[in-house]
Amino acid sequence: MDDCIFCKIIKGEIPSTKVYEDGRVYAFMDINPIAKGHTLIIPKTHAGNLWEIAPEDLSAVHSAAKTIAGALQKALDAEGVACLQLNGRAVGQVVMHYHLHLVPRVKGAPELPISHWDLKPGDMKEIQSVAMKIAAEIQ
Ligand SMILES: [Zn+2]
Repeated sequence: MDDCIFCKIIKGEIPSTKVYEDGRVYAFMDINPIAKGHTLIIPKTHAGNLWEIAPEDLSAVHSAAKTIAGALQKALDAEGVACLQLNGRAVGQVVMHYHLHLVPRVKGAPELPISHWDLKPGDMKEIQSVAMKIAAEIQ
């Protein structure tokens, strides 16, 4: 897409700090990192989100995530890596080109704001009712 910032990064029209590339995938450093080593992985073929991405590109992005998460572990001595992927403005997606965040937490770094929330037991009747609706939509 002509007006997509990530498509421009793939084409080299906007500079980026690349860490990995293959036939389907491009990975680069997030310029607004929430932790040291924060990396983005994107498909080279434009897709806005999880609903639009081709299964082959989705597999390629997540296979690259395994490789890059391993590199983050070795290069930064990361004790953990959070994978975060947002679909739609309602959940905070800003760039409408599918992207997977890899956010490492290195030893001694503060807790990641994205990986902790309060656990509160849900209403089991509601959980089961919602599960039935979801399962019914899966063909
Ligand atoms: Zn794009």
